Amino acid sequence: MSTEGVIYRVAGPVVTATGISPRMYDVVHVGNERLMGEVIKIVGDYSIIQVYEDTSGVKPGEPVTNTGRSLAVELGPGLLTSVYDGIQRPLPVLRDKMGDFIYRGVSAPGLDHEKKWDFEPTVKEGDEVSAGQVIGTVQEGPMVHKIMVPIDIKKGKVDKIKTGNFTVDEVVATIDGKDVTMLQRWPVRVPRPVDEKYQPDVPLVTGLRVLDTMFPLAKGGTAAIPGAFGTGKTVTQQSLAKYSDADIVVYIGCGERGNEMTEVLTEFPNLEDPKTGESLMKRTVLIANTSNMPVAAREASVYTGMTIAEYFRDMGYNVALMADSTSRWAEAMREISSRLEEMPGEEGYPAYLAGRLSEFYERACRAKTLCGADGSISVIGAVSPPGGDLSEPVTQNTLRIVRVFWALDTKLRERRHFPTINWLTSYTMYDKQLIAWYKDNIADDFPALRAWAMQVLQKESELQEVVQMVGSDSLPDEQKMTLEVAKMIREIFLQQNAYHPVDCYCPIQRQHVMLGLIKKYSDLSDKALAAGVQVDKIAYLPVRSRFNQAKYEENVDAELAAVSEDMDKQFAELGV
Ligand code: ADP
Ligand code: MG
Repeated sequence: MSTEGVIYRVAGPVVTATGISPRMYDVVHVGNERLMGEVIKIVGDYSIIQVYEDTSGVKPGEPVTNTGRSLAVELGPGLLTSVYDGIQRPLPVLRDKMGDFIYRGVSAPGLDHEKKWDFEPTVKEGDEVSAGQVIGTVQEGPMVHKIMVPIDIKKGKVDKIKTGNFTVDEVVATIDGKDVTMLQRWPVRVPRPVDEKYQPDVPLVTGLRVLDTMFPLAKGGTAAIPGAFGTGKTVTQQSLAKYSDADIVVYIGCGERGNEMTEVLTEFPNLEDPKTGESLMKRTVLIANTSNMPVAAREASVYTGMTIAEYFRDMGYNVALMADSTSRWAEAMREISSRLEEMPGEEGYPAYLAGRLSEFYERACRAKTLCGADGSISVIGAVSPPGGDLSEPVTQNTLRIVRVFWALDTKLRERRHFPTINWLTSYTMYDKQLIAWYKDNIADDFPALRAWAMQVLQKESELQEVVQMVGSDSLPDEQKMTLEVAKMIREIFLQQNAYHPVDCYCPIQRQHVMLGLIKKYSDLSDKALAAGVQVDKIAYLPVRSRFNQAKYEENVDAELAAVSEDMDKQFAELGV
């Protein structure tokens, strides 16, 4: 079998070669500069290659070499804090090698191969071990990095295991005569195996009231955040990265604007981890596709990120994977497809768009891993439909797959209602599976309280139509009160300032207290109305402004208790 061939044709990121007889998805080196690429189609002797680097100046007749390997990532200690491009080249290393501009044909390994890590074995010589089992640990910043038996060693006896400082290339154990290092390579397009997938029935707690209470995502679940430019996709993703109760964050950035990735690259390392007070990067892996990087690398980046996420899941961690924005990924597919002269589907996207999206989201799961622990990957994909039009193919295909939809709304943005998640159009399909968790861990009445709030908001939207036609004066008192209560739900509960030191994170217990207080206000109002008190008197009780401000107070929980007392007092003064 030949591994050396020549370039036949070059069309942007797509190069056709002859003479290399590859398998699908083999990695090849293209041209005199040995640019990295991947075989994505084989037609007779023609191998069609997507190239991860800029191909300008590359010409037919130049050499092509097949490596015979699939596109793979390096997995092992050193992943955390890393900033990679789409094919796991560490950006800081690339920058040291060649300044701000990425030259071509530069390879750099994903992990530092010189650095030594302190390996502590957790098994003994003579122990029987199997694929995925933990044989030792390395402290990597705040996280315990678990070293697992490579998947290709199904079962075996530990012949030898060491303790001490090693690089990722040094042998730390011998299992059935096979040397094991702390480094594993894994092909990015192949999901890593788990023992058993579970139904997701534990929420990914985010500290965002509108998400945790109204539209929760389960750990191991999938969510999409579609929204027009400037509606808050990136801010939401970053809040989730910071505050959600995931152990590890994998953030795949596909820049929308030229400078947006630069912002992510400079901002992310400065984000503080609320759990440790240290940099959030210590438990984060960042994958950055700047807009000057070729589209093929963008196509690969989501798989690179997912494989890294799976590796940490396999250790028994809860991983949150954010992709911002998947629309840029879909556009990369479209561009490559058009270069391949494939039959275009809707709006020029390839017919396999839906298939690729679902393959990606299907890698989200909560599972018993091969090491026997529970791990999860929750996937949150931002979608940026052009002009905010949700009927376009990427949004529509994504919505068919994901089970949570957080709809960002330009109108809410105009009203400065943040987060701009529309409570009428958003949904979660995990609500039923999560009821037990909320009842057991927060409060028995939590699901009922949530249902009540949703109903009030629903009623508000119906009443608003009436108000628009005939004005609010004509509404009966009881309906006027509904509007007041809905306003409280929106302004006190749903609105949350991502930049406020206290309000940025709201524990679910407190969410329950806040919503419970609004319900209490509503119930007391009903009584007052029944006793003949005028709506205006109820609506303008002084406790309302105190309640509005409570979430910003440093002693917010004590303040909410005081609000509750004030409420009792002030309604008592109305004779209720
Ligand atoms: P997108 O990624 O959808 O284009 P961004 O996430 O960059 O939009 O948000 C645009 C702007 O909206 C932010 O710079 C910020 O000023 C404002 N914003 C978004 N979400 C919030 C929030 N939760 N709290 C306060 N301001 C917000
Ligand atoms: Mg953005």
